[in-house]
Amino acid sequence: MADEKNKVSYGTGVNINLKGKTALVTGSSSGLGMEIAKYLARTGASVAIHYHSEKQQAEQVAAEINSNGGKAAVFGGDVSSQSDVQNIFQSIDEKLGPLDILVNNAGIDGKRQLCGEDNPEDWVRVIGINLMGPYYCSREAVKRMKKNGHGVIINITSVHEFLPWSGYTAYCSAKAGLSMFTKTLAQEVSESGIRVVSVAPGAIKTPINKDVWGNPDTYRDLLTKIAMPRMGETKDIAEAVTFLVSDMASYITGTTLVVDGGMLLYPAFKHGG
Ligand code: NAD
Repeated sequence: MADEKNKVSYGTGVNINLKGKTALVTGSSSGLGMEIAKYLARTGASVAIHYHSEKQQAEQVAAEINSNGGKAAVFGGDVSSQSDVQNIFQSIDEKLGPLDILVNNAGIDGKRQLCGEDNPEDWVRVIGINLMGPYYCSREAVKRMKKNGHGVIINITSVHEFLPWSGYTAYCSAKAGLSMFTKTLAQEVSESGIRVVSVAPGAIKTPINKDVWGNPDTYRDLLTKIAMPRMGETKDIAEAVTFLVSDMASYITGTTLVVDGGMLLYPAFKHGG
């Protein structure tokens, strides 16, 4: 006889339910982070909306979630500062309870500067936010997740963990470094019930790349770099993250899910030649 617990109803859909979970999405006052935070809240998680300088925008995101039956609270701080990160985690402990999900999303691409003509301070800033930030946040998260015996950490990398990008050595180095951080940390915490996964977006329409999609010439050029004939939308990334933090992905760890519409497929070869 079929086990009652494992009985399934066909044709009723498959739902992701994160009720009872607490999630922090860094940099969720804008772009990808904002969409990810809203998706996690829609599936029932309590969400820590984090901002660096856009407090008002963060409060708007939290207000939208709270007024639609979800639960969100706002936390500010610079992810490249260890003391700011420690304060953020302490406030989340007090306001929302133990953390189950961390999405290391906050990041900048920095100015385009060729090596040797660049400013080392700018280089260090990109590494500070894009690599040290996820490290500081992950170490606070891991301490808590180990106590709870479970947790998921998602690191938002980029296709530039694989693809070189002239003028952006700091960005590419940070994202490739973050990818190896994902793998190594996943190995370290695999027996503590914690999973660590990278999500590598291609070109997704957000404020970070407005200078490219806001100009018809650079936008046309960008589309030649993507196999599918469109830029990504924030929901493309939010849906991938929602799946990865759920139990549907419970055997996935230490790897990268690329969400890029085929940017890594060498689209220049699409027509042969
Ligand atoms: P965005 O500019 O809209 O968002 C970046 C977020 O990071 C903002 O909320 C900002 O406040 C936060 N942030 C910046 N500096 C910070 C600091 N010092 N401390 C804390 N928070 C800080 O850009 P986005 O496109 O939503 O980017 C989100 C992430 O996705 C970044 O890590 C980016 O590298 C990555 N990514 C984006 C794309 C894309 O095409 N949009 C592609 C690949 C990777």
